[in-house]
Amino acid sequence: MTTVSIDRMRDMVRESSRIVVMLGVGTVIESGGENLWSSRECYRLEGLYHQSPDEMMSVGYYSARRDKFFDFYKNEIINKDLQAASLYYDLKRLQDRGKIRKIITQNFYGLHNQAGLTNVVELHGNIHNNCCPHCGKKFDLDYIRAAKGVPLCDECRCAIRPGVLLFGEKIGNNLMTEAVNACESAELILVLGTNMYDNMVKFCTGNYKGGRLVLITKEDHYTDRYADLVIHGKVSDILPQIID
Ligand SMILES: [Zn+2]
Repeated sequence: MTTVSIDRMRDMVRESSRIVVMLGVGTVIESGGENLWSSRECYRLEGLYHQSPDEMMSVGYYSARRDKFFDFYKNEIINKDLQAASLYYDLKRLQDRGKIRKIITQNFYGLHNQAGLTNVVELHGNIHNNCCPHCGKKFDLDYIRAAKGVPLCDECRCAIRPGVLLFGEKIGNNLMTEAVNACESAELILVLGTNMYDNMVKFCTGNYKGGRLVLITKEDHYTDRYADLVIHGKVSDILPQIID
């Protein structure tokens, strides 16, 4: 990390009033979570459940093995009380100044809600938005956590659908359009805690021609050169340095 990059980045933030922020899995890790798709986690989960996390988080598995799906989902996804890292509160300061146009994420833990961030495109849903597919009644996370086995709607006894996108399901067209449009007209794009190889980043920024795409991430990657400016480090350490 060089001082020049930090100074340049601070100027970019200062000059921009239409900032789009993309939150990657690194921001979950900084909040105490795990990347379920890292090779270490995949290995651990396959040892425990004899299936890969991809298989267990698929719509096919949810339909065919609902009891096992919820076993995995409750133990590995919603059992932890993640606390939004300080980076989320730094973004809230930017939001309060009217600088953030849109936040885009595939993270489904709702950490942005903890910090009061609004205008978030949740491409993969949110673990807090659970709903009965039959009657539409909504259920909070505590209800899902407390249920024995498959959580059932207390009105119609239907299995409650968790609020996250499963493998094999498509991201809603409206959400994708919202994300792509926001990026296309952004003055500055902050990509936080992921890399340029991330499908979300590739797809959403494909039409961006602004020349102000800033990547802040812990690990370097061969695609870093597609960003206009890169700083390697913890997002929670860097953000306070570039926000006045
Ligand atoms: Zn119901």
